Amino acid sequence: MFSVITDEERMEKTFLKDYQKPHYQILKLDLEFSLFDNYVTVAQKSRYQLDEIKPFFLNGLDQEILELTFTDKNQSLEFKVEKKNDGLTVFPTVKEFNLNIKTKINPYTNKSLEGLYGSKAFLVTQCEAEGFRKITFFPDRPDVMTMYTVTIEADVKKFPILLSNGNRIEKKSVGDNRHRVTWQDPWKKPCYLFAVFAGDVDVLTDTYTTRSGKKVNLEIYAEKGKSPRCKHAMESLKLSMKWDEDKFDREYDLSEYMIVAIDDFNAGAMENKGLNIFNSKLILADSQTATDADFFDIESVVAHEYFHNWTGNRITLRNWFQLSLKEGLTVFRDQEFSADMTEKGIQRVRDVDTLKNRQFPEDAGPNAHPVRPESCYSVDNFFTPTIYEKGAEVIRMMQNILGKKQFKLAMDRYFKKYDGQAITTDDYRTTILDESGYNSELFVNWYQKPGTPKVSVTDSWDATSKSFTLHLEQIESQFEIPIFVELFDRDGKKLDLKSDQVQTNSDGQKLILLKTSTLEVKWDGLSGRPVVSFLRNFSAPIIVSWNRPLDDYYFLALNDDDTFNRNESLQQYWLNSFKNLYTQFILENKKDAVSKLQPLNGLLESILKNEKLEERVKAKLFSFPSHSVIMQFMGFLDAAGFQKTEMTMKSYFGKNLGSTLKEKVLQLNTQLTQLEAKSDHYDQNIAAKRELKMNLTDLLESVEGQTNPYQTKNFTSVLFQFASQLKVLAGEARKQEILKFYTQWKSEPLVLNKWLQTISTSDHPETFETIKWVCSQGYFNPENPNQVYALLRNFGNNLFYFHQNNSHYDFFLGKLAEIDAFNPQVAARLATTLQVVGSLPEEKKSYLGKLIQQMTTSNKLSKNSFEVLSKLA
Ligand SMILES: [Zn+2]
Repeated sequence: MFSVITDEERMEKTFLKDYQKPHYQILKLDLEFSLFDNYVTVAQKSRYQLDEIKPFFLNGLDQEILELTFTDKNQSLEFKVEKKNDGLTVFPTVKEFNLNIKTKINPYTNKSLEGLYGSKAFLVTQCEAEGFRKITFFPDRPDVMTMYTVTIEADVKKFPILLSNGNRIEKKSVGDNRHRVTWQDPWKKPCYLFAVFAGDVDVLTDTYTTRSGKKVNLEIYAEKGKSPRCKHAMESLKLSMKWDEDKFDREYDLSEYMIVAIDDFNAGAMENKGLNIFNSKLILADSQTATDADFFDIESVVAHEYFHNWTGNRITLRNWFQLSLKEGLTVFRDQEFSADMTEKGIQRVRDVDTLKNRQFPEDAGPNAHPVRPESCYSVDNFFTPTIYEKGAEVIRMMQNILGKKQFKLAMDRYFKKYDGQAITTDDYRTTILDESGYNSELFVNWYQKPGTPKVSVTDSWDATSKSFTLHLEQIESQFEIPIFVELFDRDGKKLDLKSDQVQTNSDGQKLILLKTSTLEVKWDGLSGRPVVSFLRNFSAPIIVSWNRPLDDYYFLALNDDDTFNRNESLQQYWLNSFKNLYTQFILENKKDAVSKLQPLNGLLESILKNEKLEERVKAKLFSFPSHSVIMQFMGFLDAAGFQKTEMTMKSYFGKNLGSTLKEKVLQLNTQLTQLEAKSDHYDQNIAAKRELKMNLTDLLESVEGQTNPYQTKNFTSVLFQFASQLKVLAGEARKQEILKFYTQWKSEPLVLNKWLQTISTSDHPETFETIKWVCSQGYFNPENPNQVYALLRNFGNNLFYFHQNNSHYDFFLGKLAEIDAFNPQVAARLATTLQVVGSLPEEKKSYLGKLIQQMTTSNKLSKNSFEVLSKLA
């Protein structure tokens, strides 16, 4: 079903400035799907009302038109219709009429996984962003909203469950072993929120009573036999519904809320009105087949899609350039939800990790774009970390400036003002900030300018006047940056001092608002030089360059009461130690450089032995900086050199903290054995113990190879033990271990994804051989997006291994081209992995650059992949 596009189409860009609002309304839409063994017919009847008699365009792809007529009051109307590659232009002669069109489509051969497509024995839709045009001819744009009535007719044995949005209003047999079900959605919606599902599945049901006493039926549909694994998702859904009532006064607005889990899905999940479609990895979980991280992700994504009901569905987008209006805001809301479900600081560490690992590299690379972009080749490529994660940071800054109390009032105003409308990020910003009495003229740059702002800081202490000053400078004065700040004395006590440049928001948090290119912030009346806790809770998504004494980081890692900054300080200390070791040990070959790790070793020991510190905080403190963060800190990527430096650090700590680590790991093992025997229910405090245990074991194993594996059925630990074995096993023994795991789990696709992921994230020298072997054995299916991400995307993101050998590039791009031929969305996502090309050494850069260039000039790429790759070459 993938249509080949011409060069002109490939190069055709869409611009925000060309946006024109539709000159028509669609009053209602009736769709009738008839499902057969080899094809599906879709009959559409829609009522148009024009503001003026002017031609209009209907998007449509990959369909055969069986009938097309225009009528009004049973009279037939003759309109001229012009057929194009991607749709129809209609030349109406009256202002009100019905459009009747019947088309034939083949979902069974649709491998792009957009529009209507087959997944196993099911039929399912994915319409965001522009999949609806593969289902029927329609203005496929978010600002055209209408009421949908949908009828599905199918074989009753093959497709006993027939679902669509809204309320089920009719269900009947029609003879010949066929049945029909009709759904009506009382809320107007854009077509990207339309959904249909047909198949033979099990269902887990529950109910939720809203704050105003309305009963909602909750239904989660999954493959036969898998309903028991939907329980955590169901609990998460109920928690989300309650939370949105408590925090934002938002109630659910239909009598049914349905979720369907399927294995073949390009993204994570889709918020279709009343009928979410989910990638099964974000629904199905039990402690023997899912990791603690999976349980966490399920809770957060179920919440995210639910929250869209208000931020996205009730208030939607005027055009796709406004995507962050719903995504940035909804990510922010799911982050706030997760923070309330755990510890706020730990959640913030998680969110910022995602931002720094995924969004910062995008913002620094050739695919950098504003939160509200101005142009694009393919709308599908808008689903980026900048739109989502940076978009959420922009919302968070508004909350930081106003404080939570005022922000909540502004959100109330927003919901009231725009309910039922398709609007822009400007509408959002002015409602939240300007209508709260805050001029957002400068703040708008966060939406309009790409790149991560840099702020450089110096400080000075005047011992005579006992005053302390921070000198802030933004490279260009184009942003308005809220910086949360506190001062500590050397005993670790927080100081309550005033400064003219420090204000408080409605929650009483102290903040510096940096609006100019330079700013001096001065505090008087100190008794000694203080330590500054700067940018607390990461109050703005910026890069701070401050050549401050390492002792400050040491002090804050031990004393800061802001969990985020405590963690950040330890990371900064770690990164500085990494840099010194790399320079002296790898570049200058000074063997004694290793001994300079002693202070960091001491810091880690104090943290580990600190009885007052929660285990979940310790677990985070012992997850050291990711490879992407190391690369960004160093400013370049020397894959082999960095790998050696990291190994040296880990084995130094493994050796020098040896007995302390062993003692703690043993203690955790004993506790976990008891806890896991008592209940196999997911619990975040037990999960934190496992996380801490794995982080400490990782250090020990860098010295001793695999240590004390213990008997457990808990999948997080099982998988960790498998990964530990892959670190040490080679040759035939390695293959045998991999095969053993496969044989045990081959009927569990979600477990096999983890198996592929563990193989491709290993830094063992045989990793590439293993990946090729797995593919040659037919264990990898490129048509399944989860497997592509598990094996190939993780391989490309395995920075310290992937970039050591040019043959990895040949292999990776070969696979990418193969996938691009049938699933451009997935291929383009895979391509973004290569955005680090600018940080590579010259030889690698030119080799990879040439390969990419060959691909982009071959005229064989989809628009999606072309857009990403052409910027990298
Ligand atoms: Zn979303």
